Amino acid sequence: MQTTNVLELKKQYEQTHFELLKLLNEQASLRQQLKDLPESERSETEKLLLAELKAQNESGMLGDAAMDAIFKAVMQAKTKDEEEASKRPMLVSRAYKNEDTVIDLKGEKIGTGKASFVFGPCSVESYDQVATVAESLKNKGLKLLRGGAFKPRTSPYDFQGLGVDGLEILKRAANEYDLAVISEIVTPHDIEKALDYVDVIQIGARNAQNFELLKEAGRTNKPVLLKRALSGTIAEFIAAAEYVNSEGNGQIILCERGIRTYETATRNTLDISAVPILKQETHLPVMVDVTHSTGRKDIMLPCAKAALAVGADGVMAEVHPNPAAALSDAGQQMDLPTFDTFYNELASFQGKI
Ligand code: PEP
Ligand code: MN
Repeated sequence: MQTTNVLELKKQYEQTHFELLKLLNEQASLRQQLKDLPESERSETEKLLLAELKAQNESGMLGDAAMDAIFKAVMQAKTKDEEEASKRPMLVSRAYKNEDTVIDLKGEKIGTGKASFVFGPCSVESYDQVATVAESLKNKGLKLLRGGAFKPRTSPYDFQGLGVDGLEILKRAANEYDLAVISEIVTPHDIEKALDYVDVIQIGARNAQNFELLKEAGRTNKPVLLKRALSGTIAEFIAAAEYVNSEGNGQIILCERGIRTYETATRNTLDISAVPILKQETHLPVMVDVTHSTGRKDIMLPCAKAALAVGADGVMAEVHPNPAAALSDAGQQMDLPTFDTFYNELASFQGKI
């Protein structure tokens, strides 16, 4: 008699789990349909719901801690699709695509193993200033001209850049000297406008986790040069690139530009180890900006050589016809004779590695 009773209880006990499973799947399906609710609204709803469930559980057997654990788990349980998505390798990863991404800028191919060079002033200040540097690039057979038209300055009272006028200057000089233009864009609504002027959209260190800007750049078909964030980890850097790629644009150049550390001898700490790690983990070209990382003209050349030696696909540095009078980064831009020596030595080093 007793045995029959236990068997019956066991059966009922088991049956409650199948009923729970059915309800949990219904709950997951409804949760899925509400997935576009803003995060703040969703978490507020769940908090109120949990409080109400606990209030209604006064005569129930479960304790508050169990209620918390069970319902929080139920509200956050991943669906099969979500589990699959979290396991999928990132689009920028080598696991997803083993073959190197190569970006073609007016015939200059970035990501082939042969280093490319990006030079130009910190800020665009005038046509003559940009044209003088552009001519020096052309004479060296170089193709990639940089210059900031929208400048993300620490102080709002410092020179903020010439904006679209600066982009126009870059385009004019680039057309004249047959160069490709790389320039930073700082807000999503300027991306579309910039497409008429630039060959590469630069996203700067301060905006490297501006996800709306990353996504907007990802909706274009312009190559993007993405800097590492001021205090960004390598994983955050890769995830930022994934934001661009997730919107469809896989033409991304990663640029190591130094990170914030306790060291004060350099402007930032150049994380040279990031280069081979990024090359290993992603299929994207990796460049090193030796100006903003070191902030020191006296060590730019050895650091640029180090970048090439560890496998960087390119080097970026700032050049200005009259650095002392520059409206930004006056202390660290190379003048033209220094640039000549820097480039000659770097190019000859490149031939040796
Ligand atoms: C730049 O390249 O002009 C610049 C501002 O660099 P970063 O975003 O790396 O500071
Ligand atoms: Mn600068």
